[in-house]
Amino acid sequence: MTSQAVSRPSASGILPNAAATFEIRFESIGGLGAHGAGQILATAAVLRLGLNGASFSSYGSEKKGSPVRSFVRLTPSEAPIRTSEPVELPDCLVVFHAALIRNPATFAGIKADGTVILNAPAGPLPELKVLPKTVRVFRVDAGVIALQEKSRPNAVLLGTLCEAFPFLDAEIVREALSEEFAGKHPEAVASNDRAFRRGQTEVEVVTGIGEAVGALPAARSEPAWGFTTQPEGGIVMAPGSTFWNDLSMSRVGWMPVLDTEKCVHCGTCDLVCPDLCLVWGDGEPGAKYLRVLQGVDYRYCKGCLRCVESCPTGALAKTAETPGLADSLRVPLFPEFIK
Ligand code: SF4
Ligand code: SF4
Repeated sequence: MTSQAVSRPSASGILPNAAATFEIRFESIGGLGAHGAGQILATAAVLRLGLNGASFSSYGSEKKGSPVRSFVRLTPSEAPIRTSEPVELPDCLVVFHAALIRNPATFAGIKADGTVILNAPAGPLPELKVLPKTVRVFRVDAGVIALQEKSRPNAVLLGTLCEAFPFLDAEIVREALSEEFAGKHPEAVASNDRAFRRGQTEVEVVTGIGEAVGALPAARSEPAWGFTTQPEGGIVMAPGSTFWNDLSMSRVGWMPVLDTEKCVHCGTCDLVCPDLCLVWGDGEPGAKYLRVLQGVDYRYCKGCLRCVESCPTGALAKTAETPGLADSLRVPLFPEFIK
C-alpha cells in the first residue's frame, strides 16, 4: 500500500452524456450524518449545480447505532431520474465508519472504475483486498477531524467527496452545508466549514490495495427467516437490538469508564442508559450492596454518555477511546454467547 498526493480526475469522465447517471452509496451508522449528507448533496446538485438529483435512505430497526444506507443519484438536467431503487452498483461508495469494512456487503456492487472514500485512521487496511484493483481509494480520518472541529463525519466526508469529484463544486457544496446549519444551528456553521475544508485537504489516496478483477457483484440480502421458518411467536434469538448486535461503531471518540472505587451501586446510570449495557452482578454475601455494578458491555454502548452525566459520584468518567480500550475493559452481558 502506498500513498500519494490527490490527483483530480477529469470532469469529462463523469456524467459524460445525457444518459449517464452518477450513483453514490453512503454506508453508515445511524448518528454519523449520512442521511443529512445525501440531502445536502442532492439539494446542492439540483439548486446550484444544474443537475437532477435524488436522495433517500434506508434504516435499520432503530436509527442511532444501526446500519444506515443513504443513496444519491445525479444526472444531467435533461435526464430525469425515474427510479428510487437502492443504489446497487455505485460509482462511489462513502464508508462512514472503519468498522463497516468488516462487513463484505459494504463494498458490494462497486464498479471496477469506481471510487471508495473511507473514514479510517492511518494504518494497514487488509480488508480492502476484496476491492477491484482499479478502484480509487481515498482515506480521511473523518472521525478525529470531526471530534477536533466539534462537527460530524458527514461534513468531512462531503469535503473529501468534492475533492475526489471536481464536478461537485466544493465551494457550492460547502455553501449548501453552511445554509443547512445557518437557520437552526448557526453556531455550527464555522465548525462544519472547517471540517469540510479539512476533508478536502487531509486526504490520502491509497493505491495498490485491491486485488479483485472487475466489478464486485451486487448483494441482495435475503431475510434470515421467512413466514415458514421463523421461531414461533416471533422470538428474537440473538441478544442486542441490531442485526449486527454491535453498537460500538456508533461511538464517536468517547466512552464511559467505570471506577469501581467511586461507585455506590445506586443504579441511576442504568435508568438512563438507552441500550441496557451496564452489567450487574450479586454483591458479596453479607456485604453492603446486594447488587453491584460490574462494568459496561461496550459492544452495546453507543457512547451517548448519559450514564456519565447522571452518575452522582463521578464513578463513570468520559474517556477518550483509544484502540483496544473498550475490548480490554468490556464486561460481557452475555458471556455465554462469547466463543
Ligand atoms: S450512577 Fe454512578 S454510582 Fe450509581 S451505579 Fe452508576 S456508576 Fe455507580
Ligand atoms: S454511554 Fe452510557 S448511557 Fe450511553 S449507551 Fe453507553 S453505557 Fe449506555
